[in-house]
Amino acid sequence: MSLADAIYLIGSYRRVRKNQEYPELEGGKFLPLVESFYTVQGEGFNTGKPAYFIRLGGCDVGCSWCDSKESWNPKKFPPVDIDIIVKDAAMCPAKTIVLTGGEPLNYPLDSLCKALKNKGLQIFLETSGSSPLSGVFDWICLSPKKNKKPLQKIYGKADELKVIIESAEDFKWAEYNRQQVGEKCILYLQPEWSRMSTVMPQIVDYVKNNPEWNVSLQAHKFMRIP
Ligand code: SF4
Repeated sequence: MSLADAIYLIGSYRRVRKNQEYPELEGGKFLPLVESFYTVQGEGFNTGKPAYFIRLGGCDVGCSWCDSKESWNPKKFPPVDIDIIVKDAAMCPAKTIVLTGGEPLNYPLDSLCKALKNKGLQIFLETSGSSPLSGVFDWICLSPKKNKKPLQKIYGKADELKVIIESAEDFKWAEYNRQQVGEKCILYLQPEWSRMSTVMPQIVDYVKNNPEWNVSLQAHKFMRIP
C-alpha cells in the first residue's frame, strides 16, 4: 500500500465520537467529518495542486446537480475531535488543505484553522458563502449558488469566484457576482458536469468575448480521482 493510500485510509476511518447525538460541536472543537483524503485539487485557480481534503457534512443550499449530496445531512456524520482531524492532516506530505463540504461555513471554523495553522499548513476554503465567514484562510474560493445567495460580507474576501454554468441564464448570475467581488478576485466559469456538452461551447464563446473570465474544468473527473 502506498503512503498516499495509507493516509487516505487513516483520514477516512480514524474517527472519534464525542457523542452519539448531533450536534455537540463545542464551538467548533468537534466537527461533522464526512471524509478526509489526499488527492489533487481539480477545480479553479489551484487545479493540479496536491492537497489534503477535509470534507465537512451539512449543506442546506440544495443544488440539483450537487456531486456530494451524501454530505447534506450532518446527522449522518458524528462529530469528530478536530485534534484527530489535524493530526491526520499533518501526516500528509502536501502542506495544503482544502476545506470543503457540504458547506463548511455552517460551523465555526476558528479552532480548526488555528490548529491547522499551528502545524504550518496552508488552508484553502471552498464555500458557497451562504453562512458567516469564520476561520482564517490562505485562499477563499467563493462558488455562489442562486438557491441561497452568498452573504454580502464574503464577497470582499474572495480570492477566486467560481460560477457554475448550467444554462445560458447563468451568465447573468455570474456577472451579478462579479460586480460584488473585489478587483483582484480571479474569475472562473465552470460547466456543470452533466451539461458539459451543451454549455461548454457557450462558455468558450463567453470567455473569449469577456476575457476577464477564465474557464475552470473539473479536472479531477478527467483524472478519475476523488
Ligand atoms: S452548495 Fe455545494 S455542497 Fe451545497 S448543495 Fe450546492 S454544490 Fe452541493
